[in-house]
Amino acid sequence: MEIENFTLGPFETNAWLLTDTTAGRCVLVDAPPGAGKTILPEIRARGLALEALLLTHGHWDHMADAHHFATPGTMVCAHRDDAGCFSNPEHYAPWYRLALPHLTEADFQPVPISNWVEDGGTLPLLGKTWEVRHVPGHCPGNILFFCAQEHAAFPGDAIFAGSVGRSDLPGGSWPVLLKSIRERIYTLPDATALYPGHGSPTRVGDEKRLNPYARPLPGN
Ligand SMILES: [Zn+2]
Ligand SMILES: [Zn+2]
Repeated sequence: MEIENFTLGPFETNAWLLTDTTAGRCVLVDAPPGAGKTILPEIRARGLALEALLLTHGHWDHMADAHHFATPGTMVCAHRDDAGCFSNPEHYAPWYRLALPHLTEADFQPVPISNWVEDGGTLPLLGKTWEVRHVPGHCPGNILFFCAQEHAAFPGDAIFAGSVGRSDLPGGSWPVLLKSIRERIYTLPDATALYPGHGSPTRVGDEKRLNPYARPLPGN
């Protein structure tokens, strides 16, 4: 499996394109603003079938272009606790317009979710088994997708290299986020690569040793 990064939109949000070149199939993690114009033509030009769009959470910078990818034959997966962000993103538009006044109604398109996923659930993607972990705290519906066979996990905005997600946004909570990181991210194998929603990839073991905001519990 190849993992390719696209950094897109005003908040430099990461989309991750996962490709099984032999099978001609791919999976996209998150669809930031601009993904429809950049990643979709790339998928088409390579003749890949998009198995799934995995949405780590409902913040606009991660789902703004999701509607471009929600076509028949593509699973669109997300957590129900962010359902309102996917069905009615326009509701959150005033908040984003504070930073980005040029955004119009057309920038806030809903996306139909075909698969609501839960903590502990599994998904068959690209011929491998993926585990879903619920990691709230940055927002209520942040989930992480973990593929043990690939030693790879996609935590959305729960954790970054040397940092953690904001917990001061609506529905956020620092104690909840810290618990998610300690119990659902630091319990992954140390060698697991983390491909976060912003910034560079890192590893679980490195964050357990070095992350100044989220220290593991003693004994972990
Ligand atoms: Zn976010
Ligand atoms: Zn983000």
